[in-house]
Amino acid sequence: HIYSEAEVHIVFVTIYNTVLAVGIILIGAYISDVSATVTHRKLIDENKTLNNLANYDRLTGLQSRRMFMERIKDSEDNKSVASGGDKKYALLMFDIDNFKKANDTYGHLCGDYVLQNISEIMRKSLGLENVDICRWGGEEFVFMFCNDDIDSAFVKVENLRKTIENKNFVYENNNIYVTMTFGIIERDSGKVDDVLLESADKLLYRGKINGKNVVVKA
Ligand code: GH3
Ligand code: MG
Ligand code: MG
Repeated sequence: HIYSEAEVHIVFVTIYNTVLAVGIILIGAYISDVSATVTHRKLIDENKTLNNLANYDRLTGLQSRRMFMERIKDSEDNKSVASGGDKKYALLMFDIDNFKKANDTYGHLCGDYVLQNISEIMRKSLGLENVDICRWGGEEFVFMFCNDDIDSAFVKVENLRKTIENKNFVYENNNIYVTMTFGIIERDSGKVDDVLLESADKLLYRGKINGKNVVVKA
């Protein structure tokens, strides 16, 4: 059997069409894979942004209350897995003194400026332990010492108190001085609950009614 020119033509056209179709399918699959990857990456980025909004305070970059509690929980879980249990913990609660007056005198933007700068000082002074500093409320903060007993923690906090007391914040040609009051309480576990927070808050309050700019320990 000798193939006619028409038959050969049909075979070639069929092969050509098949190759073309497979090519189109492969390219389509590649494009959809790329776009799926891009979408996936975008979702991850958006998720990160949302998490950062929820986990970190926008003004100071410090941890949110939510994140602090979560990380405390994590570190507690880790601790029970790790051997030994002689670690010492101390919970610190601290608050800027007379901050309302600073706001009223120099304006809210100046207050924001002081908050940002004081946060940087606190971060440098206390160091980045397992658990970072938390902006607990407006001008109130919480920190957990994870490797210090109450005496070594007290020394560090006293240094921070002096650093802040001596710091001259300059905002629009105004020289601003602020102080902070601290309450610190020792713990033999890194667990944080309402009772512990309330105890630290009471110590802080004691410092406030006794003239402020002081570290009160228990
Ligand atoms: P005390 O020494 O007893 O702590 O007095 P205080 O004035 O610091 O405390 P009070 O609770 O009366 O006022 C807290 C002030 O902190 C009021 C509020 O305007 C200010 N504040 C809280 N959050 C922010 C913030 O994000 N930015 C600015 N600029 N001010 C803030
Ligand atoms: Mg205050
Ligand atoms: Mg306060």
